[in-house]
Amino acid sequence: MRNALHVLTDELKRLKASGVKTVHVPDETLAALRRAMRTESGERRAESGKPIAESGLRIADSGTSEPTTAVIAAQPSPVSWSPLPTKSEIQNPKSKIGKLPPPPVFALPEGDKATRWAGLRDRVLGDPVCCAHVRPGKKVVFGVGSVDAQIMFVGEAPGADEEVQGEPFVGPAGQLLTRMIQAMGLQRQQVYIGNIMNWRPELPSGADGRQYGNREPTEEEMTYCLPYLRAQIDVVAPTILVALGSTASKGLLGMRAFKTLGEVRGRWHEYCGRPLMVTYHPSYLLRKEAESKLGERRAKRAAWEDFLLVMQRAGLSISDKQRGYFLDK
Ligand code: URA
Repeated sequence: MRNALHVLTDELKRLKASGVKTVHVPDETLAALRRAMRTESGERRAESGKPIAESGLRIADSGTSEPTTAVIAAQPSPVSWSPLPTKSEIQNPKSKIGKLPPPPVFALPEGDKATRWAGLRDRVLGDPVCCAHVRPGKKVVFGVGSVDAQIMFVGEAPGADEEVQGEPFVGPAGQLLTRMIQAMGLQRQQVYIGNIMNWRPELPSGADGRQYGNREPTEEEMTYCLPYLRAQIDVVAPTILVALGSTASKGLLGMRAFKTLGEVRGRWHEYCGRPLMVTYHPSYLLRKEAESKLGERRAKRAAWEDFLLVMQRAGLSISDKQRGYFLDK
């Protein structure tokens, strides 16, 4: 229940940061929320004296005269898989970006972590909205790694390589991420890697029908996919989250939480009640690589310092050699 409440309050904070003033909550959800908040605030007070109700979020009854600007698509204690949107609810991906159905509402299947993860994966890979947004022959992309991972990396969206292989971070940026994970003394399979988005945001095709280039996902697209990322966080329960780049960080912290990544990078934040480190996206480091040796070294050192903070918090041992990576000689 606590996790569900964290998820819900994070989503409310995200909506608030993006300018939403009022949310509409169905009566039964509201009643469940109030019960849960009473329990949670009692628990919190006992623990830290700071009830969740003091988080600055206000929940209005659905019957108020305030305008309804968003529908919350999260329930604190869902009990069954909700029906997926019907085909007619799904936009034709060839039309325009946007007009997605509301974010999915679902519950994880009962069972151990592996069972819940597999159920969630099936759900995402079969989600008709996700499927409708991938080009023929391409794949919806779900997270990979250990379901017992202590550290979860969160990226933006699949690119050309990822939608072919159906795995996040396998292209050039992914290969750099893998090397950075190895520099931490870990294997890629020991961490968990996911994305905010489960499909590659579409751009018009070239004459050969292929998509060239990538674009940032829209807020609406991220809002649709975020419940799937949160559910992965819920199942894996990592002790540390690492947001890679500006888009992933906006997805987690709120679209208007910052203007430049520098405002939030290299510091600890919180998401779903878990510590969140914000760092550069490996694509940015690759761009720096292409620009100049000095720029590359500075950017990689800055990113590596973020990784050192993650290692420290995760209780990983750090050698002198590791401490010195990318430092000028
Ligand atoms: N960039 C991302 O953000 N995610 C991927 O999976 C690949 C590249």
